[in-house]
Amino acid sequence: MSSECIFCKIANKEIPSNLIYEDENVVAFNDLNPQAPVHFLVIPKKHYASLNEIDTNETFAQIFSAIPKITKKLNIKEYRTVINTGESAGQTVFHIHVHVMAGRNFTWPAG
Ligand code: AMP
Ligand code: ZN
Repeated sequence: MSSECIFCKIANKEIPSNLIYEDENVVAFNDLNPQAPVHFLVIPKKHYASLNEIDTNETFAQIFSAIPKITKKLNIKEYRTVINTGESAGQTVFHIHVHVMAGRNFTWPAG
């Protein structure tokens, strides 16, 4: 837990969020500034500043195995997943999170 980290506070329910999934290791909540009709973030409860900090494969499994559980519950079959790592890649919150977006068409390559 990093005391100044907003996503740690969301995981600890110290600040409110629109939580859509929770298990022992992971929470998911709707993005405050959605870029698609469905846009939620999946985070480990444990603080890792970015993808670069993750030190166990278990953590990847915990994050990524939660995603299809959530999308199935939401009846979503097609979606985009994004991880921004570092400022130049667009990371603004330094607690690893996977963006999951759906409900519109996405272009590729990303800008
Ligand atoms: P990134 O730019 O990849 O670091 O993504 C950070 C995301 O967190 C952005 O899409 C923000 O809209 C979102 N965000 C920031 N603060 C909150 C919050 N309190 N609750 C939900 N989403 C948030
Ligand atoms: Zn954190």
